[in-house]
Amino acid sequence: MISNFIFWQENWSNVPLGNDERVALQEEISVLHGKIATLEEEFNRSRQEASDYRHLSHQLEKELKELRDHDQQSKTKRIKVLSDLLISVSKAERQEARMKIRQESLRLGNIGVVRAGTIISEGWEDGQALKDLNAHLRSLLEMKESIERHRKSLKKRQSDKGDGNDMETGISDEDFHVQDEIFKSRLASIKREEETYLKEKDRYELEKGRLIREMKRIRDEDGSRFNNFPILNQRYALLNLLGKGGFSEVYKAFDLVENRYVACKLHSLNGQWSEEKKQSYIRHAIREYNIHKTLVHPHIVRLWDIFEIDHNTFCTVLEYCSGKDLDAVLKATPMLPEREARIIIVQIFHGLIYLNKRPQRIIHYDLKPGNVLFDEVGVAKVTDFGLSKIVEDDVGSQGMELTSQGAGTYWYLPPECFELSKTPLISSKVDVWSAGVILYQMLFGRRPFGHDQTQERILREDTIINARKVEFPSKPSVSIEAKELIRRCLTYNQTERPDVLTIAQDPYLSYSKR
Ligand code: ATP
Ligand code: MG
Repeated sequence: MISNFIFWQENWSNVPLGNDERVALQEEISVLHGKIATLEEEFNRSRQEASDYRHLSHQLEKELKELRDHDQQSKTKRIKVLSDLLISVSKAERQEARMKIRQESLRLGNIGVVRAGTIISEGWEDGQALKDLNAHLRSLLEMKESIERHRKSLKKRQSDKGDGNDMETGISDEDFHVQDEIFKSRLASIKREEETYLKEKDRYELEKGRLIREMKRIRDEDGSRFNNFPILNQRYALLNLLGKGGFSEVYKAFDLVENRYVACKLHSLNGQWSEEKKQSYIRHAIREYNIHKTLVHPHIVRLWDIFEIDHNTFCTVLEYCSGKDLDAVLKATPMLPEREARIIIVQIFHGLIYLNKRPQRIIHYDLKPGNVLFDEVGVAKVTDFGLSKIVEDDVGSQGMELTSQGAGTYWYLPPECFELSKTPLISSKVDVWSAGVILYQMLFGRRPFGHDQTQERILREDTIINARKVEFPSKPSVSIEAKELIRRCLTYNQTERPDVLTIAQDPYLSYSKR
């Protein structure tokens, strides 16, 4: 535009104009000159300002980078300080746990070398407290036997006297009765003492069980390749081993990004496995992850993350539940008061109802006490969706085909899962049966079917196929409502057994509708 104006200015004198017009035009030109000068000035100022801004922006960028570096450094430093702290706490805990089992071993026993003839094997050797207790029980038994012998001979003397066989050794009736009463009262007192010792022995046996499990955990921790406090995926600081399952190790860990405790479940594939088997296992696990990650409910353990560690190992990151699992609870106290059992089964059912109200219904299929965890305030949560099934939309009320037969834990599986003649159709009724078994076990301290049997014997003897009717022990006394719910859950015939959403209406499972 400026160049147009200059061209016009140079050539305007050739344009034929009147005098007035020429003067007016000249004035306009000089105004325009002024404007040009101002514009040029502004332009230069803007250029200067732009250059100043550029400079400032460079400066700011530099400062920002320094700040970022600094932030990164302090973040790294913070992570380092935090993980060092966590590690030293864990190391102290490990030391304490080892010290504790050494002490307990003296009292309760240890795994030692047992020799039977020429065969040497590992076996349990009782500790001093158990030895003392058994010695007490033995001496009480000897005392009892000796008194019984005396009593027998006293009776013999009395009956001999009655027969008139032996008048010299005979005793008066009064003496006989007094003597017999002494023996009876002594026997009663021995029995009382024996009962106290037996109760104590039961308590020791429970403690012994806990000690053996803790020894196993420590042995597993010592043998684990993750026991050296690694930081996985640049954020999960592995701490102590919580336990080892069939195919996995579970570590307590700290998420350095979200600043919370988590449980890292390390799934290891056997190096000897064929590629095909590894692939199938990974497919299975990814499916578990895909199902589990979408579940958000107070009574379902959250799955936060999953990542690969190497070709043979991957890790799932779960909500950390600091309480025991229900299996450990029932090992410590096999029978729970009904009130406690009820609130636990109610929470399990709340989880199951959620699984059945989603658009994609889910059958857990491996519901058992070991898969019910408690958080720090005692809220029960269902976990381990490794065997769970998604119910496809086109499946009718009878359920879907169970393709992976033989998985799961037999005490808790319903009869239809043992039908070998045909592929069973499974539905949420499988979980209803398992929940019934769990409630029974919490109330009566034993499982309703095959309690004392091994998994192998349950299969061999068709224990569950024959589990047509549930029997209740007379003790402890349990409400009719609880028994009725158990009966409904343990309905033998799958078609007659209520599904999760039907049984959810049972009055025993509701606290408000009373
Ligand atoms: P299975 O192989 O049948 O699942 P399992 O349930 O004993 O056997 P894992 O699920 O691997 O094995 O669990 C091992 C241990 O880790 C158990 O003692 C369990 O209580 C504990 N554990 C598992 N998940 C968590 C969690 N989210 N928070 C706290 N502890 C957990
Ligand atoms: Mg488990």
